Amino acid sequence: MKLHNFNSGPSILPPVVMQKAAEAIMDFEGSGLSILEIGHRTSMFQEVMQEAVQSVKSLMQIGDAYEVLFLHGGATTQFMQVPMNLLDTHETASYCDNGIWGNKAIKEAANFGNVQVVTDSTSNNHTRIDKNFVVDTASKYLHFTTNNTVEGTQWHTLPNTSTPLVADMSSDIFYAPRNFNQFSLIYAGAQKNMGAAGVNMVVVKKEILGKISRKIPTIMDYQKHIAAGSLMNTPPVFAIYVSLLTLRWIIEEGGLPEMQLRNTAKSNLLYQTIDSLPVFEARVAKEDRSLMNAVFFLKDQSLEDPFLSLCKAEGMVGVKGYRTVGGVRVSMYNAMPLSSVQIFCDLMKHFASKHG
Ligand code: PMP
Repeated sequence: MKLHNFNSGPSILPPVVMQKAAEAIMDFEGSGLSILEIGHRTSMFQEVMQEAVQSVKSLMQIGDAYEVLFLHGGATTQFMQVPMNLLDTHETASYCDNGIWGNKAIKEAANFGNVQVVTDSTSNNHTRIDKNFVVDTASKYLHFTTNNTVEGTQWHTLPNTSTPLVADMSSDIFYAPRNFNQFSLIYAGAQKNMGAAGVNMVVVKKEILGKISRKIPTIMDYQKHIAAGSLMNTPPVFAIYVSLLTLRWIIEEGGLPEMQLRNTAKSNLLYQTIDSLPVFEARVAKEDRSLMNAVFFLKDQSLEDPFLSLCKAEGMVGVKGYRTVGGVRVSMYNAMPLSSVQIFCDLMKHFASKHG
């Protein structure tokens, strides 16, 4: 049976990426060695790193004011590393609380300085993003999660502020063109739209660094990573290579405008199907719906298990909602073909015809 992988992350990757990654384990680009057994300071790996950095810069259309780092760890490491590098003990940073991941970032930041929560969607169960808030001019930066993976909301405009923007783009990095130049720091765990787990991409505007008095442990210090070209210690070599393969795939397929076309087509199809079938219910405000993760419910909760069982029987993988949210979550990252979403929608229609 063909499986359709709607996992939220780690998640679907383009088949060509997996094939090339598998080949590189046996023979890395004709070198006769595996990607798993070459030194990170060899010219072979340095070329991987350079191409990965250049690919990110060209996709984001960012210039020399920015540095691109590939660091160990998941995005959770960045919840700590960002304030450790940017926020002095007596200073204040503003944060948006629009879901579970942003909330974790807030808790970590509070270990380093003052945190001001400027918007909090807890009262509406994170089903909409309130964009009408004011950021204190003294605030060091404004942190927000561009796509709330668990709750299924996404920022489709940028926060209206002159405060430096810091964004967790873990679950919608490279889903579409964005004005990346408006951000001071962007981070993303690779394991959704950019590759395999184990590596974080950090894109940072150099001018915001070096402005705090705290002593930063070497391995946590962005400036030291920049000086070392992400090679301060052994980086996650294989995960970086898989990111490079994914970046190449995005570029070869037509770049971010093409990703946007595909993601729009997939999410339109799915949301139209949800809206047209009374048995299902999407609670997220229409203007804040995520193109990456659609979260919805069975109006009659007793139908949830039968629907999820049907999905499983038909090869739809990873569609159970997050454990604290429940319902259904369908993740449609860049590598997800429209045909899989179509098959999923047909299944929804079939289920609705039996239970509607
Ligand atoms: N931020 C977002 C938006 C996420 O979706 C996730 C993971 N799903 C994280 C942060 C945490 O990432 P990691 O597990 O890589 O630490």
